[in-house]
Amino acid sequence: AGRLPRPVEPRIITVANQKGGVGKTTTSVNIAAALALHGLGVLVIDLDPQGNASTALGIDHRDPEISSVYELLLGEITLAEAMQRSPAHERLFCVPATLDLAGAEIELVSMVARETRLRNAIDLETIRAHDIDYVIIDCPPSLGLLTVNAMVAAREVLIPIQCEYYALEGVGQLLSNIELVQAHLNKDLWVSTVLLTMYDGRTKLADQVADEVRRHFGDKVLTTVIPRSVKVSEAPGFGMTIIEYDPGSRGAMSYLDAGRELGMRASATRQEDGTA
Ligand code: ADP
Ligand code: MG
Repeated sequence: AGRLPRPVEPRIITVANQKGGVGKTTTSVNIAAALALHGLGVLVIDLDPQGNASTALGIDHRDPEISSVYELLLGEITLAEAMQRSPAHERLFCVPATLDLAGAEIELVSMVARETRLRNAIDLETIRAHDIDYVIIDCPPSLGLLTVNAMVAAREVLIPIQCEYYALEGVGQLLSNIELVQAHLNKDLWVSTVLLTMYDGRTKLADQVADEVRRHFGDKVLTTVIPRSVKVSEAPGFGMTIIEYDPGSRGAMSYLDAGRELGMRASATRQEDGTA
């Protein structure tokens, strides 16, 4: 993998879609691994109580001793204390999620600064000290306070869309939530990237969905499409990204390409963008 330019400022990207099973976690960890392989420093923040991103990055999130994003949101620990290096790559870090994060969605409701806790926790000094170029936040399948925290902490949203029936279902609601966050909490937030996932080239439907998504989102949609592949779904069972599990596979190659495309768009600015 060739090197990618370092962005001028660290890019903070939230991977969101309130629909479950569309490839948020798979995209978060594999784009992160791809960027690390392309020579960049990457931090994945796992905001899903299921902890699947942590698992895929080789971190045992069921270990009761580990520091997690839960304590980070509560302000009990610092980012430096919460992040761990992933065995997947020396430039890849993760703030893992543990099951107690499931309670946070409700506990946060009564807290001060409940929407800005993650943003406040991501201190740029620690980011710089670890040479982090990209922060990727994996959201749970809801539009609750955890996802709002992710949207307030980020500058960009990456929406994975599965090439299946009802692909765009719920996307309107996602976009209006993003607009609400823009209006009230984070005016810099924008949808920079859409990634088509689980594309099955044998079906006509997959092409129809891809066309529809491209009509809707224009050049926000990466040219690279992630194919449906059993290997991609096997990798997390081994605590690995697809890029480690089978580097030569189509799934790994497509995530390497998607990471490269995302990285080459680093200079794209909000000004070119009229819509959310
Ligand atoms: P989300 O985080 O949006 O819920 P996941 O990334 O966990 O979605 O993916 C849902 C399921 O689909 C997981 O079992 C995952 O392994 C599988 N999966 C994701 N991407 C692919 C793909 N390209 N091909 C086949 N299976 C995939
Ligand atoms: Mg997930």
